[in-house]
Amino acid sequence: MNILSFDIEEWYVMQKNFPATANLAQYDKILAELLDALAELEIKATFFCVGQMAKEHSHIIKKIKESGHEIGCHSHNHIWLNKLTRSEVEEDTRAAIDALQQCIGEKITSYRAPAFSIGESNKWVFELLAKNGITKDSSIFPAARDFGGFPHFCSQIPTIIESSAGQIKEFPIVMTSLMGRQLAFSGGGYFRFFPKSFILNQALRRSYNIFYFHILDFVKERLNISDAEYESYFREKPTLFARTKRNIKSNLGKGGAWKKFLSLLSALQFCSLEEAARTINWDKTPKVTLI
Ligand SMILES: [Zn+2]
Repeated sequence: MNILSFDIEEWYVMQKNFPATANLAQYDKILAELLDALAELEIKATFFCVGQMAKEHSHIIKKIKESGHEIGCHSHNHIWLNKLTRSEVEEDTRAAIDALQQCIGEKITSYRAPAFSIGESNKWVFELLAKNGITKDSSIFPAARDFGGFPHFCSQIPTIIESSAGQIKEFPIVMTSLMGRQLAFSGGGYFRFFPKSFILNQALRRSYNIFYFHILDFVKERLNISDAEYESYFREKPTLFARTKRNIKSNLGKGGAWKKFLSLLSALQFCSLEEAARTINWDKTPKVTLI
């Protein structure tokens, strides 16, 4: 099973935080090409959308929905959840789900945190998600990571998380072991960096994979942001080390990403989170209690 997912945020996040770099017409074009490619191969995916997109760019969310894909929630303001208090997360989640539900006229049941920002310190988020009608989540990145990560999460396959407000079906990101380190291969900078043959080989070895992409993965130009924009968005000092690291991660392998993505689409069979959740026998999956 290969799940295909996208985080939809650029129209709002880039315009708000990096106005000089934002190029909405280019994001529109990439999305149109993406939806065409998926339609041609009859692939359904899950698009985790920022709630503010439903308010300010609702035509984008509607277009994705009309193409037959699942709309999930990717927070309201795209602020890392581990930088927010419990009541702020609750408010953000409710606002996002309300906005998205109003936009598409259907219940939102899938969630992904911005930058996979649920970990040991804020695992209480699952309780808030369940309370707000979320039944499926893909926020767990079971390795160390900037701005998030949950290295001690016990599983890299679909798992039931028990919370006091109900169960969540968790779809963690899959890791591979390379030179003693746990690394992802199925999205973001990892996908852009590794050759297609390596990614395909990793995917074929497992019966469960989840791929994750952003529109920015397919923008060929380098992302240039000022120190002030950096500090305000990433909420950390723009030291030379931090900026260089982020610069490499944001711009790595951008030139070949679209071509690699298209060839992967033809090489594997993909489905959405909701399709996967229907297929899995949840009586046989691991169960964990995090709260
Ligand atoms: Zn995001």
